Amino acid sequence: MLRTPFPDQITGALLAMLAMSAIVAARYFASSGIFAWLGERRWPGMHQGMGPQIRREIAWSIKSAVIYGTPAGFVAWGWRELGWTRIYADASQYPLWWMPVSFLLCLAIHDSWFYWTHRAMHYPPLLRSIHAVHHASRPPTAWAAMSFHPWEALSGALVIPALVFVIPLHIGTVLAVLLVMTIMGVTNHMGWEIFPARLVHGPVGQWLITASHHQLHHDRYECNYGLYFRFWDRLCGTDRGLGCPRRGAAGRR
Ligand SMILES: [Zn+2]
Ligand SMILES: [Zn+2]
Repeated sequence: MLRTPFPDQITGALLAMLAMSAIVAARYFASSGIFAWLGERRWPGMHQGMGPQIRREIAWSIKSAVIYGTPAGFVAWGWRELGWTRIYADASQYPLWWMPVSFLLCLAIHDSWFYWTHRAMHYPPLLRSIHAVHHASRPPTAWAAMSFHPWEALSGALVIPALVFVIPLHIGTVLAVLLVMTIMGVTNHMGWEIFPARLVHGPVGQWLITASHHQLHHDRYECNYGLYFRFWDRLCGTDRGLGCPRRGAAGRR
């Protein structure tokens, strides 16, 4: 049963929100930093002349870290202190098969939410006033993973904190979803394909989104809106196949 917080617990909740924002920011700098560094090693000079854009991407991403971290910290605090959410730590509480199934379910729900809110963001007034921040990255870099206008960041920040109240999720499943979310957010934007061509152009790649797919969204705007899967893009006729992420300075467009 849900218990309500007492006023003296407000400090604890605020500290949790602050700590989670710091964790999200640290996660951003670590993940984007690693992939930007890997890209630079592989394609020397690929970020040359992109300093001002990267600084903008980082500034927006820090604001997003606070917007992502605040509800996540609040829910994590409520879970620990007041028994909120349906997160469980004892793996035997549900059948083991539920872990991979709930993991895929979370990704599918997040993907569906992202697809439709992303399409809404391309409605011209919203594109001009909100989503233009994300599309200012042309071409995007690994630092653009959380480069969103605060309203757009908020629309993404509430999905996982809301899901944990509805779906029973093992704490490991929650962490796995967050890991995939982080890695795909960075790798889809970093301007080069990290996955092997066999996977990207094979049968699995027909349904999965990687940099080759999302790059085309940043090039052409009106297509390839999905996050993890190509399901909605294919169903709604917005899938335009794969683009060509840059292959280093020589291939820069
Ligand atoms: Zn993007
Ligand atoms: Zn877009």
